[in-house]
Amino acid sequence: MKIKILGSGAWQGIPAPFCSCKLCQLAVKNLYCQDARTRPQFMVETRQGSFLIEVSPDIRTQSTRFSLPAVNDFVVSHWHFDHMYGLHELLTWLKSLEIKPVVHGSLSTKDKIEKEFSYLPFDFNLLEPYKKINLCGVDITPLPLYHAFGIDEELSEEEINNTFAYLLEYEGKRVVYLSDYYKIQPKILDKIKGVDVLIADGTYLFTDKFKGIKLNHMHNEGILQLASSIGAKQVYFHSISHLTGLNHQEMQAKLPENYFISYDGLEIDL
Ligand SMILES: [Zn+2]
Ligand SMILES: [Zn+2]
Repeated sequence: MKIKILGSGAWQGIPAPFCSCKLCQLAVKNLYCQDARTRPQFMVETRQGSFLIEVSPDIRTQSTRFSLPAVNDFVVSHWHFDHMYGLHELLTWLKSLEIKPVVHGSLSTKDKIEKEFSYLPFDFNLLEPYKKINLCGVDITPLPLYHAFGIDEELSEEEINNTFAYLLEYEGKRVVYLSDYYKIQPKILDKIKGVDVLIADGTYLFTDKFKGIKLNHMHNEGILQLASSIGAKQVYFHSISHLTGLNHQEMQAKLPENYFISYDGLEIDL
């Protein structure tokens, strides 16, 4: 199994629109450098085929830059703009197809798509927490995370199903993709202990500006403590924000061994 990280940036991307910060200005000079980051998108490849995780608003530029093969399946973690609003970019392609591609996701993702994207010709596969599906030979288990403020706090651990992490299992290798989250219940930590690869949200990994402020993402030491408690063999952070003010090398230098800041185009072979 190969995982390609096609988009490693947070919701604004780097460069962010109209931003004059040092990092965005660095990225403007070279849109293919490690500090230029498009919004979250991941391709999973096996001998049986390929599928995509998320539908980045940058899917158009990613598909041309990385010569992506057309896929039939899109696995979405949640309905926030940076993870799903590339759906609209697919309109012309979708209309040209004889079969309908499938978007897989949670109930709130389905509701959002019905409200905002009902004109798009694809099928929706409603996923249930902990219930495996198989795509291209990969067992995929949706694991519900606490991320949506105003909805998730009211729900018990048994009830949350807005944002999914995905555990991917293929030929004895285990990878977990933790999308956005501010809390992970112990039941899920048990399921993902010791995975080969952890791909985790790093939006607020190196910014102290938000210390003590309640955000719908985990931040600072919390992220590193979580990653360490999972005990993955390798850890890659996605959703990197310009708010860190640090370039790729500066962030990488602050991480322990086998922890990596991802970048657009990074490939993980398992
Ligand atoms: Zn900036
Ligand atoms: Zn989100």
